[in-house]
Amino acid sequence: MTKIRTRIAPSPTGDPHVGTAYIALFNRCFAHSQQGKFILRIEDTDQARSSIRSEQDIFSSLRWLGLDWDEGPDKGGNFGPYRQSERIDIYEAHVNQLLERGLAFRCFCSTERLDTLRKQQLANRQTPGYDGHCLSLSEAEVQEKLAAGEKYVVRMKVPESGNCVFKDLLRGEVSIAWSQVDMQVLMKSDGLPTYHLANVVDDHLMGITHVIRGEEWINSVPKHVLLYEYFGWNPPIFCHMPLLRNPDKSKLSKRKNPTSINYYRDMGYLPATMVNYLGMMGWSMPQGEEVFNLNQMTQAFDISRVSLGGPIFDIGKLDWLNGVYLREQLSEAEFAKLFMQWASAGGRLHKVIPQIRQRVDKFSDIADLAGFFLSGIVQLDAEQFAHKSLEQAQLVKILQFSLWRLESLQDWNRDTIEECLQSLSRSMELKIRDFLFPLFVVISGRAVSTSVFDSVAILGIDISRARIRHGIEVLGGVSKKAAKRLEHDYRILN
Ligand code: GLU
Repeated sequence: MTKIRTRIAPSPTGDPHVGTAYIALFNRCFAHSQQGKFILRIEDTDQARSSIRSEQDIFSSLRWLGLDWDEGPDKGGNFGPYRQSERIDIYEAHVNQLLERGLAFRCFCSTERLDTLRKQQLANRQTPGYDGHCLSLSEAEVQEKLAAGEKYVVRMKVPESGNCVFKDLLRGEVSIAWSQVDMQVLMKSDGLPTYHLANVVDDHLMGITHVIRGEEWINSVPKHVLLYEYFGWNPPIFCHMPLLRNPDKSKLSKRKNPTSINYYRDMGYLPATMVNYLGMMGWSMPQGEEVFNLNQMTQAFDISRVSLGGPIFDIGKLDWLNGVYLREQLSEAEFAKLFMQWASAGGRLHKVIPQIRQRVDKFSDIADLAGFFLSGIVQLDAEQFAHKSLEQAQLVKILQFSLWRLESLQDWNRDTIEECLQSLSRSMELKIRDFLFPLFVVISGRAVSTSVFDSVAILGIDISRARIRHGIEVLGGVSKKAAKRLEHDYRILN
């Protein structure tokens, strides 16, 4: 029997997402429950959006959860390299094969032409997609354009009619009309592959037997199945997991709920709770136990027990479960050890000392001055925001714009934070003192405190985001309409 091989294939863009951990958990349980291997592959072909910091965050957050992998970029294995940016030659060779066999074609269409086409299709209520314009170019015309140095992408050919029928492990037979499938770009004009090509080539070359991933990829399967057919390979078994949802049933997104694994780590949830809770998302232990660990889940794992109704990631329930762990699962000694580890994680306590030292006469002054560094969301009430010149709408604007600016920072340290906020206050034509006022309040819970730049740097983006959000809520929140206006005002500011 072939050995089971599964993988998680995150793109290193942005914060390490709980959805990545969720999919990693199920892939790992599936493989390890059958003596198979679980692989980590980094899909970093989108060079503009990928970053090393994000890759490191993926490694460290999955390790923190105990979801380690058998093969991966940092670990090696017989099927490497495991980072797509190191496999560019492989993709090029495969695209060339398809071009030679007439299964893919070069497309020289300009962005303007494609934009106009898309607009027309939308106006005519058609599914937007490529119209096959360059399919009719003769070989001589293609050679002429190449000789003239014209830019092109490579697209795959797609059947014009009929349906693509494939099997999903949880859904059974799925049928998607080929007319809904675009002539997908496989290679961009910079010679880099798109997700679809690189993903299929790698899953095949890495011997992946089961592709277990989020439901959002199900519409891509026809393109993938077709690529397997073009290359003459057997496709893996596909299994699309339900998406995690906010309590209001919308797709889990950081607009409504914290989605970064780092947030949950910094808030002081235990990794064991996170794994346990993610294991309850659309899955349950055979005897219905609510408290279980990774080992127990792996032993009892059966993918057919996944139910497709969108599982709700509910922080209230997560709090309950974490409380059960803290009160009932840990010994006092373990509790103390884990708490001390958390409090000093990332050198946090050391970083706090220079912030408060000048104002301390005795150690017992520290808790009052520095307590907010160890808190999650700080208590706030609307009166704390009373200001001589800034009105509520302006305060919300400062908070929201600051959050957007901070979220876009690549380098997270005191100086970059100061620079980013100073420049924002200039663009908003506000005195820095006034501009920083609401930030002081939401970050520390008081109007005067240690430097807000240092505090934000020490707290990190996830806790800072949560506090800024909380501040906005206390100020009355932002309606959908107001959000649109804020987005617009922010865009023209840049
Ligand atoms: N790179 C894709 C992602 O970020 C992988 C999707 C898949 O598993 O095929 O989710």
